[in-house]
Amino acid sequence: MRILGAGSGVVELTGGTSGHRRWYRRGPVGVGAQRPVSAVTGLPGAGAPPAGTGPQASARGRVYDVPAMTDPRSTARPPAPAPASNVAPAPAPATPPAPGTSAPLPLDRLGRRMHDLRISVTDRCNFRCTYCMPAEVFGRDYAFLPRRQILTYEEVARLARLFVAVGVEKLRITGGEPTVRHDLPDLVRMVAAIDGVRDLTLTTNGSTLRRLAGPLADAGLRRITVSLDSLDDEVFRRMNGVDFPVDRVLDGIAAAVQAGLAPVKVNMVVRRGVNEDSILPVARWARDAGLILRFIEFMDVGHTNGWRMDEVVPQVEILARIDAAMPLEALPATYAGEVADRFRYRDGSGEVGVIASVTQPFCRACTRARLSAEGELYTCLFAAAGTDLKTPLRAGATDDELSERIRAVWTIRADRYSELRAAGTADRPRVEMFAIGG
Ligand code: SAM
Ligand code: SF4
Ligand code: SF4
Repeated sequence: MRILGAGSGVVELTGGTSGHRRWYRRGPVGVGAQRPVSAVTGLPGAGAPPAGTGPQASARGRVYDVPAMTDPRSTARPPAPAPASNVAPAPAPATPPAPGTSAPLPLDRLGRRMHDLRISVTDRCNFRCTYCMPAEVFGRDYAFLPRRQILTYEEVARLARLFVAVGVEKLRITGGEPTVRHDLPDLVRMVAAIDGVRDLTLTTNGSTLRRLAGPLADAGLRRITVSLDSLDDEVFRRMNGVDFPVDRVLDGIAAAVQAGLAPVKVNMVVRRGVNEDSILPVARWARDAGLILRFIEFMDVGHTNGWRMDEVVPQVEILARIDAAMPLEALPATYAGEVADRFRYRDGSGEVGVIASVTQPFCRACTRARLSAEGELYTCLFAAAGTDLKTPLRAGATDDELSERIRAVWTIRADRYSELRAAGTADRPRVEMFAIGG
């Protein structure tokens, strides 16, 4: 099994200076012209209905028209509701109390519980991926958060414990690039020790894993997800915006495997005209290496990545490209709220998934909360604002008071941005993804 190529390169750090943050930008969602979609295959091509083929209509129900594929999960995601407004129904009843507590777990206004917490430990990154932190916007003079505004590891661990007490079972450490923050294994050790954490993982660009995979595993990290957008060095260097060589990431992935951070997952964002030709090579490589690959549709997070709908390679097309060479069939979801649609290779050689939040919105099953590096709670990746937890925390609030604030925010949550985007009504300010964690 060969999953890496040796190589070396220089990481160019392009961090910013302290000062005011500029995450929130107003601007239109910028839905561009939708590529024609064949009514028969669901794939771009002739015979497509040119008008009214928005993202909502582009794939759901057609994705499984790819020849030889079946869909045992067809009822896994309820259909999107009428997109007229974001006014949610009355609060759903709470679930039974969490073990060891007397308070019932909070449900949001759409009846969703809080199951996952994504913790962003920094807004900084050593990459400038064109779809996330384009270098022309996030240059040397960009004002990232000053240190004092970022939660300490002790503060993060305390809040994580309170989130676990209100129902969270899965923690994901992310960023920005989490591994650029000093002594990250110390945080991992702290949150790994929290009673009730069933899953603890990290999302990283893989650039530092040769050095950090072992210490992270020793500290209690159980799994890892590494982003990798191409095996083609030229494409990879262009996409990461800092000319970082792909071999270094492949070596980092190998280090993660050696450290026992299994199963290693790989995320690949697909952007039309940029790396769609990498779909098949990466799929083949991940299958042969025994890695779990997730393609991600290019999303309109924030307002700086110049997102256009016609740059989204829809799930149906990603699958068709793979299916033509390595036949696939759909797998059932392993748990309620799983974000990736999963498929197995018919020859039994592995699986692949697609996170299709643009063409197959999954808001109705979304159980994720996000804690930003500066201690704000976000209830949606596309939220315009968060709820400040750091100020009360630093002002001496008790655990009960902080828990109550978390519960209150979750109870009034009605977010379903991706469903609204599909209806073309999602034109509003949004936080940048690196600020609150992908
Ligand atoms: N720096 C780490 C990394 O890149 O893995 C963690 C943070 S990053 C924001 C988390 C994930 O979000 C990555 O897998 C990245 O590829 C993905 N991502 C960032 N911007 C995206 C976009 N516009 N559309 C889809 N996925 C995106
Ligand atoms: Fe950095 Fe991750 Fe965003 Fe790329 S996707 S710029 S590695 S935070
Ligand atoms: Fe969850 Fe918001 Fe994404 Fe919908 S758009 S799946 S509510 S994070």
